[in-house]
Amino acid sequence: MKKDVSKLIRIQAERSQNREHSTPIYLTSSFTFENAEQGRALFSEEEEGKIYSRFSNPNNSELIDKMVSLENAEDGFAFASGMAAVFAGFAALLKTGDHIVASRALFGSSHQILTQILPKWGIASTYVDVSDIESWEKAITKNTKMIFIETPSNPGLDLVDLNYVSTLAKKHNLILHVDNTFATPLLQKPIDFGAHLVSHSATKYIDGQGRTIGGVVVGKRDLLKDIRFFARQTGPALSPFNSWVLSKSLETLPIRIEKHCANALALAQALENNAELLSVKYPLLPSYPQYSLAKSQMKLGGGIITITVKGGFNRAKNFIDEIKMASLTANLGDTRTIVTHPASTTHSKLTDKEKELVGISPGLVRVSVGLEDIGDITNDIYQALEKSKE
Ligand code: PLP
Repeated sequence: MKKDVSKLIRIQAERSQNREHSTPIYLTSSFTFENAEQGRALFSEEEEGKIYSRFSNPNNSELIDKMVSLENAEDGFAFASGMAAVFAGFAALLKTGDHIVASRALFGSSHQILTQILPKWGIASTYVDVSDIESWEKAITKNTKMIFIETPSNPGLDLVDLNYVSTLAKKHNLILHVDNTFATPLLQKPIDFGAHLVSHSATKYIDGQGRTIGGVVVGKRDLLKDIRFFARQTGPALSPFNSWVLSKSLETLPIRIEKHCANALALAQALENNAELLSVKYPLLPSYPQYSLAKSQMKLGGGIITITVKGGFNRAKNFIDEIKMASLTANLGDTRTIVTHPASTTHSKLTDKEKELVGISPGLVRVSVGLEDIGDITNDIYQALEKSKE
């Protein structure tokens, strides 16, 4: 993490003739040409330069440069949302007849893309379970082109062994596409393990203050060439204003993420033996089933913990209604602690069977641990558990 700190602060768009210290916001739809010849040269890519903000803008470039550098990638593109980024990773690189092997434990909208949207264009997928990693190779067919995973997963915090899955992708010549939203590149760099494409919901820790929606894809140059072509023609680019917000936020990501992780670990430890809970999950708790994998591939455990309250759906609802300080909202990765009930909100579109398969029980509550005083966060959860007792 230490290596990343200065470059996150110092990578910056080239200064204009005004010698500004902080990058201005380039709210311009297009960029002018000195003359007809320059217009021709820019369009034919003989000359490098900005043309039109649907595919090139200095604020977007600054954000992308930071993310490329953080993830040890070769190239990147910034999207209007995390889902636009994830979708572009599929739509730009796959065609009718192709097949994806995906970890079952995925964010709800990624699941909808794989099961409802891509099949309309003849792109199929097969789910595999994190708990049965041996079955992954069996799921690969002659049409498989990509492996798609999320680690840690939302909300179950399941981890995929990045060494194993990248060896598998290499053996079968598949694109390994990792959604790295929960870890952020400060805790885990999938490309160092052998991933080819990494996507992010920048809405989460990259913004970190709940202000903007955004997404980024970084990875190998040849794959990004196709993704850029797709984005240039179809128009899902991030707005320059949001890029400016996100790039500024990256300057403080290292100090924020360290504190999120410290608060999350402290909260998980404080709740671990609470009599009102059936379970507490956090990757760096020794009781966590994938503790040794977490220690080997993540620098710290992340800012999310999950708890399962005794008493199922009704208790979870009552518990959430008793929360005093934390926010009740569907986002995560914010400075403010957020308490969410995935079964009735973010993952409500899943069938009961699908929820069960990815560990979303009726009593599961996701806590995105914020940067408030840890005593205040813990006391809020304690009092809500106490008051929601039957
Ligand atoms: N990927 C993961 C792991 C997420 O948690 C989310 C949102 O919660 C997304 C992707 C989608 O991001 P966005 O809301 O920015 O479209």
